[in-house]
Amino acid sequence: MMELQPSFQLNGEISLLDFKIVVLLVDDQQLIAEAVRRLLAGHEDIEFYYCSDPAMAIKEVLRIRPTVILQDLVMPDIDGLTLLKYYRAHPDIRNIPVIVLSVKEEPKVKSEAFYLGANDYLVKLPDEVELVARLRYHSKAYVYQLQRDEAFKALQESQQRLAEMNKRLMRLSILDGLTGIPNRRRFDESLGIEWKRAIRNKTPISLILMDIDYFKLYNDHYGHQEGDECLKKVAKTLESLIQRPTDLVSRYGGEEFVALLPETGPDGAMILAERMRHTIEELCIPHQKSKVSECVTLSLGVASVVPEKGESAEKLVEMADKALYKAKQSGRNRVELFHFHSA
Ligand code: GH3
Ligand code: MG
Ligand code: MG
Repeated sequence: MMELQPSFQLNGEISLLDFKIVVLLVDDQQLIAEAVRRLLAGHEDIEFYYCSDPAMAIKEVLRIRPTVILQDLVMPDIDGLTLLKYYRAHPDIRNIPVIVLSVKEEPKVKSEAFYLGANDYLVKLPDEVELVARLRYHSKAYVYQLQRDEAFKALQESQQRLAEMNKRLMRLSILDGLTGIPNRRRFDESLGIEWKRAIRNKTPISLILMDIDYFKLYNDHYGHQEGDECLKKVAKTLESLIQRPTDLVSRYGGEEFVALLPETGPDGAMILAERMRHTIEELCIPHQKSKVSECVTLSLGVASVVPEKGESAEKLVEMADKALYKAKQSGRNRVELFHFHSA
């Protein structure tokens, strides 16, 4: 069966070029804020926000959603490095780039800032060209990452939907619409696989081909809808009688069913066939027009072989069909085993 493949075209093309740089400066000194504002004023793609109270920083970051944070180090109450730790612990802020903006030039302080999760370090007041270049660089990296995450999530979701759809399609394609048991296609596939396995392992394989007796008369008398109900009951009953996971009962067509029994010889197949015949008879779905019983009955043909290389599985089906024909000829509601000498 052909599987549906995911399409890699995502809804709404992702543009990597047009995004705004949103800067949030967290600094207690108004003068610094004014200076930075002036540096950025001429750049139309940069939006500038300012937070003077470090205690409000987290709240402001969540409200403004900056693409980059400019973070002062020395502030009253909370110092910048502590704030950095909070940013990195917060699931919605964790990945926003932080540029530390400080008067301190000691390598030890810089090193600690990087250790705690800073992405960059600038000494106040930076040169305009350098500041803008860094703000652009970090914002771009962050926005790209967000877009990649979003695309990946969308792809995962679409792949999951596809997997579910394929599963449903697969189920529908191998089950019979009326009775819900496996259909002819599934039977043909399984027979092909089991036939080859039997050749490899030199093990027997058996078939039971079944046909409801006088079902045309049943339909004529009870109506097509009742006929369908009868088929459903018979199908479910037959399916409930198989025990091994490799055994398979399918609807072969119309009012015919087939049981595929790998690793089963004629004796085992005959026992199961007789149990099926008996169980359907005992179910006693009324059939006033039947000429062999007052209830719905089955005729069954059994065939069993240890197949050899080069032989086709068709042969087994033909054998079972001949045995079924014999069961019909010799009175119906019975099981017949195919014998080579009587073929
Ligand atoms: P026999 O004992 O020789 O098998 O006689 P029969 O009447 O069962 O056999 P025949 O092949 O003449 O008729 C089969 C009937 O099964 C004819 C058809 O209307 C009915 N049938 C086949 N498929 C369906 C189905 O899906 N639903 C219903 N209600 N009837 C079906
Ligand atoms: Mg028939
Ligand atoms: Mg029939």
